[in-house]
Amino acid sequence: MNPPELAPHGPGLYVHVPYCAGKCGYCAFHSRPLGLCPAREPERITEAALRRARSLAERFGVREFSTAYVGGGTPTALPSPVLMSLLSGMRDLAARGGFAEWTVEANPESLDPDTLGILGDAGVDRISLGFQGGQPDPLRRAGRNAGVTAGIRALETCASWGGRLSVDLMVGLPGQDPRGLEADIARAAAAGADHLSIYQLTVEEGTPLETAVREGAVRLPSEDEEAELWAAVREACGASGHLRYEVSSWARPGAECLHNRNYWKGGVWIGAGPSAVSSAPLPDGGTLRIQETRDHGEYLRDPEAFAEEERVPPGTAAFEIVMTAFRTREGLDSGAFRSRFGVSPEDLLPETLAKWKDLLESGPRGPAPSDRLLDVLNPFLLDCMSEMERRAAGIPHGPGGPL
Ligand code: SF4
Repeated sequence: MNPPELAPHGPGLYVHVPYCAGKCGYCAFHSRPLGLCPAREPERITEAALRRARSLAERFGVREFSTAYVGGGTPTALPSPVLMSLLSGMRDLAARGGFAEWTVEANPESLDPDTLGILGDAGVDRISLGFQGGQPDPLRRAGRNAGVTAGIRALETCASWGGRLSVDLMVGLPGQDPRGLEADIARAAAAGADHLSIYQLTVEEGTPLETAVREGAVRLPSEDEEAELWAAVREACGASGHLRYEVSSWARPGAECLHNRNYWKGGVWIGAGPSAVSSAPLPDGGTLRIQETRDHGEYLRDPEAFAEEERVPPGTAAFEIVMTAFRTREGLDSGAFRSRFGVSPEDLLPETLAKWKDLLESGPRGPAPSDRLLDVLNPFLLDCMSEMERRAAGIPHGPGGPL
């Protein structure tokens, strides 16, 4: 299979909704249980996020957004009037004719037909549902807040929705059964999911899961057991017609996520809401990155004053693009890379590209990883990193100086 060639598109808008129905035991995302928040805070935070999105758009010179993504947290956990006014404010920022893709993340306990109606009426055309799996014990032991019954009901609810559906699943849950994982993928496909995000469960520092694993209360799958789980993913995705186009993403042809693709290609995006990140290329090839505060009080007072701004140098920006582009089957865009950094990836990585040539392919615009390389990506990326470090100092670059 050749890597997919996708249509180019413009800047992305991300809004972070930092609330969930409860907190999952493995979660390190910035989110708080809605029931513990001061009254009216969600409304004030989402209004502040919209104001901030407009001000960042002005600063970045973005007049219209091509794609939008509301993530979190759990946007569908917001009270309905707050969700409606957030979506209506975002719609005003769309490109003429609306967003080319507009995704809202949802979790099972807060997804019902009324909420789906609100999303559809606003123009949202894609839901990303955190199903995570249909095996009760593994999910419970990992500390998942939503139960399996709610997850299955949410999938059934989505099946009757007219828009597109992406389903999140986790691999590496305690006691997870490969056959059960295959059944979960088949169930998601049967509900109409044209996109699957399948992630390895990671043990994040400071989470209840980390404590449980450290104290031996929870045992995670061994390497061999994990390999079996990933083999089951390959089998089930093959059967359902979902092709892997990024390390953690599978899609039916044409259903790849445009919004995420913009991240992986180092495009322009604006992130509003506590903890969100904005990013845009600088004229010297580097990247301007703005990280919003996680503190809700600070965000409500003055998000700009409490944001952290970083000018990533061109060498680091080039490295970041290599890291993200090689996570995708589409691979690197050699022409775009050369015009941004003054050097082609082929000149920057000759030894690594030669060493790994059997696992590389010609992508639509430059070198791309084969499907097999996505399974053993880390050593390849480490080789990219060390070769870039060795060569960077001697490579000329335009206005920004050496890489
Ligand atoms: S639903 Fe998602 S964002 Fe919310 S606590 Fe659970 S894992 Fe974290």
